[in-house]
Amino acid sequence: MKTIEDYNFEHKRALIRVDFNVPLDKDFQVTDTSRIEAAKPTILKILEDGGSAVLMSHLGRPKGTRNAAMSLSHISEKVSEIVGVQVKFVDDCVGEKVEAAYGDLQDGEVLLLENLRFYPEEEKGDRDFAEQLASFGDVYVNDAFGTAHRAHASTTIVADFFPNSKCFGYLLAKEIKAIEKVMQTGEKPVTAILGGAKVSSKITIIESILDKVNHLIVGGGMTYTFVKAQEGQVGDSICEDDKLELALNILKLAKDKGVAVHLPVDVLAADAFDESANTQILPVDQIPDGWQGLDVGPQTLEKFKEVIINSKTILWNGPAGVFEMKPFAKGTIAIGNFVDEATQKGAFSLVGGGDSVAAVKQFGFQDKVSYVSTGGGAMLESLEGKTLPGIAAILG
Ligand code: AMP
Repeated sequence: MKTIEDYNFEHKRALIRVDFNVPLDKDFQVTDTSRIEAAKPTILKILEDGGSAVLMSHLGRPKGTRNAAMSLSHISEKVSEIVGVQVKFVDDCVGEKVEAAYGDLQDGEVLLLENLRFYPEEEKGDRDFAEQLASFGDVYVNDAFGTAHRAHASTTIVADFFPNSKCFGYLLAKEIKAIEKVMQTGEKPVTAILGGAKVSSKITIIESILDKVNHLIVGGGMTYTFVKAQEGQVGDSICEDDKLELALNILKLAKDKGVAVHLPVDVLAADAFDESANTQILPVDQIPDGWQGLDVGPQTLEKFKEVIINSKTILWNGPAGVFEMKPFAKGTIAIGNFVDEATQKGAFSLVGGGDSVAAVKQFGFQDKVSYVSTGGGAMLESLEGKTLPGIAAILG
């Protein structure tokens, strides 16, 4: 696996695909700079070697047309501030203006191109467009994990034009290593904690990880499909009636593979999907109509704790309850604390996929786990066992 560590960028111009798809407020100020900060080590390494950097990214969903609200010009100052170099912005990503700016680029300088998705060719993975982008670098560096699952011009196709000079940036390399640690080289016992709303959105992950894990902990809204499938009463809890058979198949498959599945035994049920609803602790399979399980209960947490703190490798995807509402956040917070405890005892813990990161950030767990993935969809697809096109393009 070639990373930027394998290159010396002296007098070289690096074309870097970064993920600067950052949130902006109504005054176009960046409200969360973590993605820019995450790309900084890669940019600095290139500059410190004595090279220059051409940064390209998308921002939002302009759907192939120019849209001033989604211009990367809004973030240019922030990038300058974080990287510590005055970034030069060019208001296009291909064409004469970029050619001129690229021609003037000196060692130690950083050029930021305009939003790639102003051109429909980007998302289509257009070859000519990719070739034009490729003319703005001696080496192609992909450091955008968040878009690595897309075969877009700047994430995948462009790599074809750098057969012997393409590599992963630090961030992408770290993501790949973290996934490998869980999916391939993880020390046993390996535990996956899956939560979130629906079984249907996690089914491919479950099938793929059953070959890798020793324990599967199930929480969140998914629970009730498994419980109802085993003839439990779930009341008004979220439940996918058309997935009951699938849930039974998963349980059987897990048994055949020797994976211990841990389902909640008790839940915090509420009489409405509301912060001020009445609540009570109930056995998971005895929830009357008019009530719905919105978090895991105390006995369940005791059971989960035992498994989690004795694990050596942990994957956590999806909250244990409706963590956005304070009364139903306890289970998710407790699980975060167990993962923290296991990590302190030497386990490798990876949190990622979909919205998991939101829960982790909300409760400040990001510094307590070994790795928090930056890519929602890309991480989900990796956990599903898929090879991401952006990664394959560098390896190929
Ligand atoms: P996902 O994107 O599939 O990981 O789902 C995350 C969402 O699942 C969060 O917004 C939670 O509020 C929701 N969720 C977790 N537990 C439950 C539950 N018991 N009932 C309904 N929604 C839930």
